[in-house]
Amino acid sequence: MLEQRDETVVNAFRTGYSAEPAGVWVAPGRVNLIGEHTDYNDGFVMPFALDQRVTLAARPRPDSVWSVTSVNTGRTEVFDADELQPGMAGWQAYIAGVVWALRESGHDVGGADLTLGSDVPLGSGLSSSAALECAALTALVDLNELTIEPLQRAILARKAENEFVGAPTGLMDQAASTLCVEGHALFFDCRDHAIRQVPLADPALEILVLNTNTPHAHVDGEYAARRASCEEAARLLGVPALRDVTDLDAALAKLDDDLLRRRVRHVVTEDARVLEAVAVLEQGRLADLGPLLDASHVSMRDDFEITVPTIDLAVETAREAGALGARMTGGGFGGCIIALVPTGTADAVAGRIGEAFAAAGYAAPAHFVGRPSAGARRIA
Ligand code: ADP
Ligand code: MG
Repeated sequence: MLEQRDETVVNAFRTGYSAEPAGVWVAPGRVNLIGEHTDYNDGFVMPFALDQRVTLAARPRPDSVWSVTSVNTGRTEVFDADELQPGMAGWQAYIAGVVWALRESGHDVGGADLTLGSDVPLGSGLSSSAALECAALTALVDLNELTIEPLQRAILARKAENEFVGAPTGLMDQAASTLCVEGHALFFDCRDHAIRQVPLADPALEILVLNTNTPHAHVDGEYAARRASCEEAARLLGVPALRDVTDLDAALAKLDDDLLRRRVRHVVTEDARVLEAVAVLEQGRLADLGPLLDASHVSMRDDFEITVPTIDLAVETAREAGALGARMTGGGFGGCIIALVPTGTADAVAGRIGEAFAAAGYAAPAHFVGRPSAGARRIA
């Protein structure tokens, strides 16, 4: 049984191509539970897939042409094999990039008609882009009867985003959209790509995801600066990456630059918090995740300096309204927060944040309850 949101896409496919799709695939957005700016330091992250997802209906074509319609943009874009050049403009680059990445890796991918729709908020740090890539990849793998392991699929989707679209991201988003299991968070080691499915279910608690709707400003430059600081610190400390710092006090004593010291302290303590979060969740103590979320936020605010006033206000208000813990999630300078709240209170907590935003003159936030969901798959 397809849900209404999936039926909408199938109906748009029928209207657009006057035919039945050969199948329907979905791939979710994700939110990072804990582990921020640890990915490029070879460290640990722990996202979970959301219920919000891309639905994609498709059928093969006899030629090497891809036609793709987005219900969200209302646009249909068409490209052929000769146009598969990295740097392609437009949203269709996320789909073309997947075709390109598969072909670059030696897979035989024929043309297809595709229609997709998404309820992942676009550009809010919930990875609507990875959902798009992973839905397309899963569909093309099936339509072309390819055999590709799940982790390899995530790597190919990331290749599309990094090398074709041109966005320098880590593997977390595509790994989450591909590998997640319902009711679990995904512990992911960004160095060796080891994974562990960690249970994230407690009837008494839920995770509020609140989008501050803060416009991201200077994000690329700030991101590059944080990355450069981490690389510089690793070099000064004589380790391959900050993940390899085993004695934080000794490392801090070796650095005389206060800014570098604080950057290192965030990354090293954040890695430790991810490991602690895994332990807490595996012992079924979800409530004990709260203090780890709080500590992560303070570290991002004071040591890594990637939060902004709207985000800090949202986190503080969530705590005052009864959250057991709250933190910014995502790269920073805007985007979303998550808060661990008693089940049934997410709307009330979000309401309090909305009031605080109105009083401060900020734009109204949006929110939903994050439900740990399954990764990319075929649904029809
Ligand atoms: P995020 O991944 O955090 O949502 P990105 O900037 O990485 O933000 O990706 C957002 C971009 O992905 C959009 O600007 C658009 O180009 C593309 N995109 C995502 N979902 C869709 C969709 N359903 N239809 C068309 N384009 C989409
Ligand atoms: Mg993205």
